[in-house]
Amino acid sequence: MIKNLKRILNLFTIIAVTFVLFGCGKSDNKTKSGKISAVSSITIINDIVKNIGGDKVEAISICGVGLDPHTYKPKPNDPRLVSQSDLVFINGFALEHWIEEMVHNAGGNKTVVAVTNGLTPMTDEKGFGDPDPHAWFDVQNVKTYASNIAKAFIEKDKANEEYYKKNLESYTKKLDSLDGWIKTEIQKIPQDKRVLITSHDAFRYFGRAYGLEVRGLQGISTEAKAQTEDVKKLIDLIKERKLNSVFIETSVNPKLLEEISSETGAKVGGTLYSDSVGDEGTFEGTYIGAVTHNVNTIVKALK
Ligand SMILES: [Zn+2]
Repeated sequence: MIKNLKRILNLFTIIAVTFVLFGCGKSDNKTKSGKISAVSSITIINDIVKNIGGDKVEAISICGVGLDPHTYKPKPNDPRLVSQSDLVFINGFALEHWIEEMVHNAGGNKTVVAVTNGLTPMTDEKGFGDPDPHAWFDVQNVKTYASNIAKAFIEKDKANEEYYKKNLESYTKKLDSLDGWIKTEIQKIPQDKRVLITSHDAFRYFGRAYGLEVRGLQGISTEAKAQTEDVKKLIDLIKERKLNSVFIETSVNPKLLEEISSETGAKVGGTLYSDSVGDEGTFEGTYIGAVTHNVNTIVKALK
């Protein structure tokens, strides 16, 4: 509890720093290539950054593809990436406590942007009311992510304002069409089968936005280990509702969920991207591709 409170307080410090630094970050400290160097905490944000920043930006994610941001252990080179960057993008909502120290050590002139600025978090009912960080699974929220990112680039690089605005506009259109497509696809699943069982509770925003009941074996963070009682509850639910599928995630150990699958006879309906996109250069290596893959996998298994 105290640990969580401390984390939230630290997060507020980061957000406060963001507000202080916004508006006074007009220095033209670009990289040797003349590009803005942008570091993101997770691959999902990094992909949105690339869509908005285009060829004006060199973008990299600290927590890499397939890694779990809840339990991420920084690599030796990470602090250097943060300290040499022009912009640091974080999700906020208490996801990336590990980046705080790096930002702190990078000195006082780091512009840190929480891309969830302006959104209201869902809170964890099972835990201590912690904010649920997985806001990116409501595609409408990602429009806010993209607009916060565009705003930060424009602050840094006013000369290319029109370029960033155009990218934002075209990306927002793609998000709107993705959002509409998901709503149509989910309708293909019978009403009583719209239950999404996953390794950890990453899909609550998704469930709220698109009308699915969601149950994660672990809570909103993979740091909390599943209790025997949670396992039992999930097994009862699957049997009671005669659910035919559970889903594993690319960034979470599938072992427990596979055990539940063999115990209940519910098959593993597929692997979902929860807290990371797929491999770079593949369709799933983008936010839109990863979400499209998830929806196709879920609909195919549950309908
Ligand atoms: Zn997560």
